[in-house]
Amino acid sequence: MGSIEVIDADITTLRVDAIVNAANQRLRGGGGVDGAIHRAGGPRILEDCRRVVPDGARLPTGEAIATTAGDLPARLVVHTVGPVYADAGEDAPALLRSCYERSLAVAGDEGCRSIAFPSISTGVYGYPVEEASRIAMAVLTAHVDAAREPSRVVMCCHGEHDRAVYQRALEDLRGG
Ligand code: ADP
Repeated sequence: MGSIEVIDADITTLRVDAIVNAANQRLRGGGGVDGAIHRAGGPRILEDCRRVVPDGARLPTGEAIATTAGDLPARLVVHTVGPVYADAGEDAPALLRSCYERSLAVAGDEGCRSIAFPSISTGVYGYPVEEASRIAMAVLTAHVDAAREPSRVVMCCHGEHDRAVYQRALEDLRGG
């Protein structure tokens, strides 16, 4: 049986097979959770990002790709590019859904049994957290209910407010 947990934590500290990074298209680091992951994981993550997305290339929004996790307790980082809410228009929900789905698929292909997600796109990219939480939890519950790997899924929020929003979205889906 799979599981979904919603927690308030620093994603860089988690002992899971894969942590997801809310990256940008160039995969060269940034602020927010991206900056925290590169700082805590050390330079090997950026080196590997250069290999998987060469200079001049971009990872399309909604896609995901794995690199080493460097010095982090996780085994790998799955970088995904969330939609910029103000730019994506009516495509925003499908693109955000794709981030969660593609990250799960990449982690599954890499043999991961456990994965932790940050609240993709709800920081600098401006996605309203209530809307984003419903999309995220719909994908994650469908994945776990289908008994796919990674079977242990952690929604790692930054702050108690976001944790409560995602927990509520999960309970609404579960009829709790
Ligand atoms: P985006 O550009 O996709 O909006 P951000 O990094 O700006 O990404 O924000 C995404 C979410 O990550 C925000 O909710 C932010 O509070 C959260 N965040 C920032 N640092 C961490 C961290 N160390 N662990 C988990 N979540 C974090």
